Amino acid sequence: MEKSMLIGSKLVSGEGQDERILNPRTGELITEIPETSQAQVDAAVAAADRAFQGWSKTTPAERSVYLLQIADRIEAEADAFAALEALNCGKPINAVRNDEIPAIVDCYRYFAGAVRSMQGVIAGQYLPGMTSMIRRDPVGIIGSIAPWNYPLMMMAWKLAPAIAGGNTVVFKPSEQTPLTALKMAKLLSEILPEGVVNVILGRGDTVGNTLINHPAINMISITGDIATGKKILQAAAKTVKRSHLELGGKAPVIVYGDADIDAVVAGIKAFGYYNAGQDCTAACRIYAEKSIYAKFVADLSAAVSTIRFGEADDTMNEIGPLISLRQRDRVASFVQRAAEIGHIEVTAGGATPEGGGFYYQPTVVAGALQSDEIVRREVFGPVVSVTPFGADDDVIGWANDSDYGLASSVWTKDISKAMNAAASLRYGCTWINTHFMLCNEMPHGGLKQSGYGKDLSQYALEDYTVVRHVMINHG
Ligand code: NAD
Repeated sequence: MEKSMLIGSKLVSGEGQDERILNPRTGELITEIPETSQAQVDAAVAAADRAFQGWSKTTPAERSVYLLQIADRIEAEADAFAALEALNCGKPINAVRNDEIPAIVDCYRYFAGAVRSMQGVIAGQYLPGMTSMIRRDPVGIIGSIAPWNYPLMMMAWKLAPAIAGGNTVVFKPSEQTPLTALKMAKLLSEILPEGVVNVILGRGDTVGNTLINHPAINMISITGDIATGKKILQAAAKTVKRSHLELGGKAPVIVYGDADIDAVVAGIKAFGYYNAGQDCTAACRIYAEKSIYAKFVADLSAAVSTIRFGEADDTMNEIGPLISLRQRDRVASFVQRAAEIGHIEVTAGGATPEGGGFYYQPTVVAGALQSDEIVRREVFGPVVSVTPFGADDDVIGWANDSDYGLASSVWTKDISKAMNAAASLRYGCTWINTHFMLCNEMPHGGLKQSGYGKDLSQYALEDYTVVRHVMINHG
């Protein structure tokens, strides 16, 4: 197991306080790893600064070769990466190995190609005797900060477009899930020129705080909680840093009466509970039309009760535990408060299972109203609420009535209803008759307090580059 971070070309140990890394399946200690000291954060930023001079001058084709090498190495070591991610996060091994790793490899390959075909470069004469052209250049040194729910994938989403765009990076994984980032640190040290990517370690309020306030950092990219995003904005204001914010979500799912209920139930069972619901796009806030409400709640509850977890043979597991005891207790307290409300019925799950680890039962909370906490706040656990709506209710208004604006879905056989809903929903993504599906070619990002950074696609390359104007006087 790699325990060194990467500063410049050197794999070094942290000089700060030890961080305990726990196995969420058992609660037992995996290892202790010291976090980065303040001087080491400075050294990482200085290394990124030095590397920028050379890296920013490389051609897209040259950078593309490095990205392809990174993809090939992850693919070659897929089993080892999957095992480490499953250990640190408690994810079922099949989910990491078959879903996440291929998407991660493809992310590096996508940006290897995308950077070579960036569009929008024009030249034109807008003043007599003067020709203007547009350049897209790197932003500079990026401070990148990732959450714990998809550590290796969030690292890919942040590193691939940033280095493809000619930037250099100081990357900090979540203090709870650094293990695959440390394996990546070793791999990157063997592939990339010195200092292009630096990997540091530590908690948000220490190492993260030093990074976001560092005067030499030009842009902060964070995926995390809304409260953390607001801290980034305050820090960014001091030196007018750019910011790329991917914050939380509370995805509404509108199920009209004419929808294929079996397909909706299968979809919510998969996409409401994947990664134990620790997903910012999780299908967690269902609005079901009254004509099908009772059948839908019964069928969904029956299906959710069959979700397998905590099996000794991990290949049988559909979901894993929550990341920490704190997160498990937080989820349990949301359900507890909801269950105490008279109009709410917990129709599946609703308890902490026997045994060790940070598990929580896959749960359905039926009869929730728009004003209830369980409908309004992000739970980030295996908990789905269902709210009935009638023909006279403004269900699109309810769906939009949220501080979050990341993802949404509509389920109906009526294409007009679907397209009208898609046009009116104020979310970065609306799926029709599906949910959760992402591809590297299409953008992922939010509106409202879910933030404004776009991950994946050409739009991420735009976010990690700046538009510059060059004007030539040729008389
Ligand atoms: P978090 O905000 O607690 O932590 C995210 C990262 O920010 C961690 O690396 C943490 O160390 C760091 N951090 C925390 N405080 C900081 C500070 N003051 N200064 C600098 N860095 C700081 O979030 P989390 O609990 O790790 O992840 C869950 C959250 O992430 C949820 O709200 C979820 O919705 C969101 N999320 C969003 C997306 C998206 O694409 N929009 C994807 C995944 C997760």
